[in-house]
Amino acid sequence: MAGVSRLQYSTEIRLIRVMCSGRVDLEFILRAFSNGMDGVFIGGCRLNECNYITHGNYDALNIVLLCRKIMEHIGLNPERLSIQFMSSGEGILFTEVVDDFSKKVKALGPLGKGENRDADELKSKLAEVRKLIPYIKIVKRKKLESRLENEKEYDGLFTSDEMDRLFSEAVSYYIDPDNCQACMICAKRCPVEAIAGGKNLIHVIDQDTCIKCGTCFDVCPPRFGAVKKFSGEPVPPPIPEEERTIVRKSKKTVADKT
Ligand code: SF4
Ligand code: SF4
Repeated sequence: MAGVSRLQYSTEIRLIRVMCSGRVDLEFILRAFSNGMDGVFIGGCRLNECNYITHGNYDALNIVLLCRKIMEHIGLNPERLSIQFMSSGEGILFTEVVDDFSKKVKALGPLGKGENRDADELKSKLAEVRKLIPYIKIVKRKKLESRLENEKEYDGLFTSDEMDRLFSEAVSYYIDPDNCQACMICAKRCPVEAIAGGKNLIHVIDQDTCIKCGTCFDVCPPRFGAVKKFSGEPVPPPIPEEERTIVRKSKKTVADKT
């Protein structure tokens, strides 16, 4: 509407159109900051005025509330992220909120510098958090489904303590080489191919690729119980490749006899 009405607004903003504000994932926001954007503004339809049954604008709101707490946790000013709701006919409102946001971000200064954060440290913090996005979304899925009614509820949805706990107690999964029987179920079910293995090979999780979904933990047959969950502590290093072959007892006995 702003364009059709030839309304002018800040030239510092770059528009990315999505079909619904609910499409804006936590990853999109953090990627924008990782790529050096100083602020992220999300415009969604008015709450409770969604044309469909999906009400994706509530999802966008919850993602923003979560992301703002994450930003606080890593030392970024949460005011760099904003969501506003308006109808497509409210061009003037759009230009006003965009201009206000642009001014606010300018006053905050460049990302990181305004917060006195070391650029490399901030970059690695953002990378660390982005790796945990699937885990965060799984752990917080109930809250992310909330339909909040007012600003008071917005404030209480996620807390700083909760964020501190979320990151300090983040889980990792590890395959115990003594228990793995190379049944290959976990590797077949891992959604990101983070598990290396094969026939008669002890399976190993690539911690850099793992998104901590917990599927391997759930599917490893209880009689093997090879996948271990670690919370808030480092996992042991992977077993060296040359030691991954499993020698079955029966074969070992035959080999021993010959
Ligand atoms: S938790 Fe297991 S299944 Fe999930 S991504 Fe990590 S290795 Fe794959
Ligand atoms: S499911 Fe369990 S036993 Fe089977 S390969 Fe994976 S870790 Fe090993």
